Amino acid sequence: AIPLVTARSTSLGASRGLLVKDRYALELTTNADVMVLDKTGTLTTGEFKVLDVELLNDKYTKDEIVALLSGIEGGSSHPIAQSIISYAEQQEIRPVSFDSIDVISGAGVEGQANGHRYQLISQKAYERNLDMDIPKGATLSVLVENDEAIGAVALGDELKPTSKALIQALKKNKIQPIMATGDNEQAAQGTAEILGIDYLANQSPQDKYELVEKLKAEEKKVIMVGDGVNDAPSLALADVGIAVGAGTQVALDSADVILTQSDPGDIESFIELAQKTTRKMK
Ligand code: ADP
Ligand code: MG
Repeated sequence: AIPLVTARSTSLGASRGLLVKDRYALELTTNADVMVLDKTGTLTTGEFKVLDVELLNDKYTKDEIVALLSGIEGGSSHPIAQSIISYAEQQEIRPVSFDSIDVISGAGVEGQANGHRYQLISQKAYERNLDMDIPKGATLSVLVENDEAIGAVALGDELKPTSKALIQALKKNKIQPIMATGDNEQAAQGTAEILGIDYLANQSPQDKYELVEKLKAEEKKVIMVGDGVNDAPSLALADVGIAVGAGTQVALDSADVILTQSDPGDIESFIELAQKTTRKMK
């Protein structure tokens, strides 16, 4: 049976945009040293806008590149996917039909169409230098056809309104915030500067997992906050995993606490709730 104090806190939590799945999460949160936060979809809205579509050779027109981009995104649930599909729709460009599409967690998507193999991947996953100017703060994904880069799409998304206040509150509560993102250095740096947070860019799902592992090995109590498939392993490993409600199912399944309104500001209420509840139990 769930002790009465916790049961009451849990339902109290529900009214504040929190669903507490694991009652120990409250106690562990009181002693937290570090909070690792994902960027895209967690601190930012994840509602991207296409800023620019760049041609990297003269094989295809811009419309053809957009058709390939929206076609391959048909197989992805990443926040970037919907923005590219809408961008193509606005211009009445019909997506290329793909025979198969697979998600590459934390890196992008790949698929087969017209007898070619395509990938739409992060700058990091592309692993080579790109001969183009990237808009400041933009997230960049590269479209590759049979190992040759044929186009790139630059996207921008915005901070959630409560993200900055959360980072300030964490610092006040002596919980060190660290942003860990799969996004590129430039995009990560731009966001981190506004928030005043330490950050790690180009983080694969495995890197995020190893970061939590390392912090735990240093005897730190770690809270992880994330929304994506790429965050699921680290959400499960952290002392407390907090998932964004609008996130993917596997992230929700891996977490101890769910932000039902997808609002990072509710983490502040959670910390307060944890402090009150733990005081009552002692
Ligand atoms: P974060 O850790 O900030 O949530 P992700 O790990 O989800 O970011 O994604 C890392 C990077 O991989 C993105 O910034 C993007 O460049 C690329 N990426 C991932 N999924 C897609 C997709 N469906 N379409 C295009 N690019 C993608
Ligand atoms: Mg994310």
